[in-house]
Amino acid sequence: MVREISSGGVVIRKREDAWWMAAIQPAGAPSGDSKGTRKRPSKPVLALPKGLVDAGEKALDTAVREVFEETGVTAEVITKLGDIKYVYSRSWGDGQRVFKIVSFYLMRYVSGRINQIADEMRVEVAKARWVLLEDAPKLLAYTGEKQMAQRAIEHVIAHPEL
Ligand code: ATP
Repeated sequence: MVREISSGGVVIRKREDAWWMAAIQPAGAPSGDSKGTRKRPSKPVLALPKGLVDAGEKALDTAVREVFEETGVTAEVITKLGDIKYVYSRSWGDGQRVFKIVSFYLMRYVSGRINQIADEMRVEVAKARWVLLEDAPKLLAYTGEKQMAQRAIEHVIAHPEL
C-alpha cells in the first residue's frame, strides 16, 4: 500500500479568557448552510491544518509551514500531541489505497490574521477561522482530529500558566 506522511497543528490562542483553535473548512466541503439536496463530495466541514512532509523536512517544520499556508497565522510549537493513522482510497488515478500517518503538534498563536492566505491556497482551503477550543472535539469531522483537540483541552487545563 502507498504511504503518506503528513504533519499539522492544533493552534490555540487565548482571548477574552477563553481558548480558541484555528480550524479550516477544506475547499469542496459542504458549507453547512446550503439548502436543498445537491450532492457534493464527502469532505469534512471542519478539519485541522496539515500537509505532506517534504523530502528532508522535519515534521515539526512542516506543521509550522502548513499552519501558515492554510490559516495565515504564524504559530510556535508547544509540544507534540500525537500521531493519527487512517486509510483512504485516492479519488484520482487508479484509486490506490493509501495508508496515512499524520503527526499533530500543539501550537501557540504568535501573529497574523486568520484566513489571510495566498490565492493559490483557495484550491485547498475554502475558509480558515477560530472556533472555541472546547467546541472543537464536536466540530471537527474526523475521530483522530477530535482526539487531538481533546488532548489540547487537557493540556491547557493541566497548564493554567499558559
Ligand atoms: P494533506 O492535507 O496531508 O496534504 P490531502 O488533503 O491530500 O492531505 P487528506 O486530508 O488525507 O488528503 O484526505 C484524503 C482522504 O482522507 C479524504 O477522503 C479525506 O476525507 C480523508 N481523511 C482526511 N483526514 C482524515 C482522518 N483524520 N481520518 C479519516 N479520513 C480522513
